[in-house]
Order: sequence, then C-alpha cells, then structure tokens
Amino acid sequence: MKTIEQIAAELQGYDPQALPAADVARFLSLLVTPVTDRLELPLFEALGRVLAEDVVSPFNVPPHDNSAMDGYAFAGAALAEGGELQLKVVGTALAGKAWQGTVAAGECLKIMTGAIMPAGLDTVVPQEFVSVQGDSITVPAKLLTPGDNRRLRGEDLMQGRAALSKGELLTPARLGLLASLGMKTVPVLRPLRVAYFSTGDEILSLGELPREGAVYDSNRYTVFGMLRRLGCEVIDMGVVRDEPVLLEAAFISAAALADAIITSGGVSVGEADYTKAMMKKLGDVAFWRVAMRPGRPMAVGRISQAKSASSPFLASADSYQTNSNPNGAILFGLPGNPVAVMVTFLAFVRPALLQMMGCSAPHAPLLRACSVEAIRKKPGRTEYQRGTVNTASDGSLQVRTTGNQGSGVLSSMAQANGLIVLHHGQGNVAVGEDVDVMMFDGWM
Ligand code: AMP
Ligand code: MG
Repeated sequence: MKTIEQIAAELQGYDPQALPAADVARFLSLLVTPVTDRLELPLFEALGRVLAEDVVSPFNVPPHDNSAMDGYAFAGAALAEGGELQLKVVGTALAGKAWQGTVAAGECLKIMTGAIMPAGLDTVVPQEFVSVQGDSITVPAKLLTPGDNRRLRGEDLMQGRAALSKGELLTPARLGLLASLGMKTVPVLRPLRVAYFSTGDEILSLGELPREGAVYDSNRYTVFGMLRRLGCEVIDMGVVRDEPVLLEAAFISAAALADAIITSGGVSVGEADYTKAMMKKLGDVAFWRVAMRPGRPMAVGRISQAKSASSPFLASADSYQTNSNPNGAILFGLPGNPVAVMVTFLAFVRPALLQMMGCSAPHAPLLRACSVEAIRKKPGRTEYQRGTVNTASDGSLQVRTTGNQGSGVLSSMAQANGLIVLHHGQGNVAVGEDVDVMMFDGWM
C-alpha cells in the first residue's frame, strides 16, 4: 500500500494545483488495489461479476466434427476429379445421435446441422444445391472444396486451453461460454461496496420543501445509477450537513463499511465548509485542481477505519458487512456540480473502481467521430463535452455537442450518449475534424 506522498513522488512533475487528466488516471491506478475475496456463484447470478481464475476447457467444444448445414456428407476426395458428382444416399444422420454404419466411395449420407460427421466423411453439400433422383443426388461441379461446411472438433474451445481469463467481466457471451463447458457455477471476485453522500447546506433531499437558494440532490441519483451499472453494492448515505460531528460520523462509518467512498461537493478552493478539513483529519488525502473541464477540484486518498466508530449510520447498518480492508476505504471526493460529478466519475472513478473489482481491462476504448460543428477548446486542459454520436448515411460516425456545456447543466448529460474527449494539448476543433469520443451507452 502506497501513501499519497509516495505516489506523488513517482509522478514526474506532479503538480496538485494543475494536474493533467492523464496524471489523475495514473495516480489512481497506483492508489487502488484489487479485492481478493472470492465466491462461487451460479451462472444466473454471475452476470457483470469479475472472473476470479482462468477457466481451462475440460473438453473440446464441439466434441466431434459435425455438419454446419442440412445437406449430404461425403468424402471430399471425390471432388479431385473436378466434374459433377453422382452419389447414392445410404442413410440419414440426425443431430444428437451418432449414425452407425459405413459410407463407401460413391455414397453419401443425408445429414442435419449439428449431426456428428461419421469417420471418413469430411465435406457437406447443402441440400439446396443438389438435385435428387430417387435415392441418388447430383452435386454440381466447382461448388465445393474438401472440408466445406464441416465444423471441426474443438474449433470453439480446445481441451486444455484457457477459455476465459481471470479478470474478465462476465458478459452474456462469457456466461454462455461457461455454460457450453457444462459449468453450473463460476468463481468470481466479491463485489465492491461503495458508500456515497452529498455535502452542502444548500442541498435538499427529495421530499424536503423547496427553499430559496437550495437545490435538490441530483448527485445522489447519478452516482447511485453509475455504481449500480458497475455492479457495486451501494451504501446510500444521503445528504450530510455541513457540521463537523455529522461529517466525521459519516466518514468513519463509510470507511468501516465500504471499500470506497464517493462524496460530492465541498472540495473547491473557496469552500467555507468542513468537508475538506474532515478529509484531512481522518485520512491520507491529496487535494487537486485538475486541468480539466468540467471538474477541477478533486480530493483523492484513503480514509482510515476508526476503531471505535459509533455513528447513527453504523447503528442502522447491521445488514452490511464491515469493510475487510484494514487499510481503510479509498476516497473519491468529487466536485459538487452535477455534470462535473458524472464526468469525473466516468473519466477517473469508473476505471479505478473496475481496477478495484479485479477487472483486467478497466479502460474502455475511445472511438473516433467526425465533429459536425466547430468546438472552441483551449490547450492546456482536458475537456469532456457532452455529445450525441450517430451513424451518418454513409456509415461514418458523427458527433455534435448537446446544448449548454455549463458544469451545472445536467440536461446536457441527459441528452448525450457519450463524451467528446478533447485532450490536454488539443486546440479548437474545426467542422469535419475527427475527435475522440467515450461512449457511455450501456454504462449508465
Ligand atoms: P461545490 O463543489 O460544493 O462548490 O458545489 C458546486 C455547485 O454544485 C453548487 O452550485 C452546488 O449547489 C451544486 N451541488 C453540489 N452538490 C450538489 C448535489 N448533490 N446535487 C445538485 N447540485 C449540487
Ligand atoms: Mg458546496
């Protein structure tokens, strides 16, 4: 486990007051460690979990050479002569049982998709290409080469080879693959527990009466949604008032219960509140101004688990297991602005949480799309503009920004299906220029 000071020393030219986005990602990857506890789950419960060990195929899939088509199987050597073939049909092979018998030269077998290819037969002519005369068929010349329309034993999964690797997220395809190996259960890493709360005395919880200068807590719901899409167990702590006793209790119980804590608000420079002071008091925390937009203020580090935590949250939290990590919980102190919360989550927190989940590929690939509008951009910071990506009539990807890009304008995020990532050194974007986009359909 590295301290904030040790990680900072590893980053060349580390400047917490103007930290490039790329350094944030590197810093976080050095800060977090993957969970190791594992459990064995039935396949239906394992969707979205992370595989805890390599899965080696215990047998060949498919187990036998078999037909890829409904048609007629024969020995492909007969195709060497090049002309039309006359073959006598001597039987029918159905899927699910082996055909007993032999097929001599000049003969063939009617065969169904998935039926085992009998020994000596290696080629299938699809039924729609042949003409049938009584118990014989004619195969047209120059249609086939030997081996056509046959699936080879082990071509999907070879016995003894790795079918899936530790650290892979269990997608629908991977669940299906495990099922094709006959596995009823699968070893996965335990899910992450993430506690989150909003700070700020102007933040109203739903159900509270509106009052002047106050806004409803939207971060609670965006953070909840993004965490649940990642498969995290969430510990929702609502809004925590700006009072030292309440903040301390919230941090202490969150650190005792969760692997990670996400807060929003209270980390900007001018903040007159106690959030930053409490983070400093209870943890090993770095406070940054990130060279990005939206975003900027962020606090990151570790909050220790206090031994004798007594707090209203812990008292009502019997159903939660306490955090098994003696090093405390990782803190992601996000800015308060609703768009900034979502952007910093997607850009930094999500990959860090995936790394903590044990996922071996925490970074999603960026796509390239053609910007249909000019975008103003200052070099020296990373900008994440909200965009709608669509497929143009020529099949290429196009992107346009969604409305007002202010960091409090959550509707820009609600309309978007991805973020336009304008990198640190990049300047203005011209109409028709390609830009990087981070699609978040399916993540959120
Ligand atoms: P802060 O980072 O605390 O200075 O907050 C920046 C802005 O975000 C302020 O306008 C806050 O009112 C707003 N904000 C902070 N927290 C929330 C929240 N949970 N829901 C909606 N808006 C928020
Ligand atoms: Mg505030």
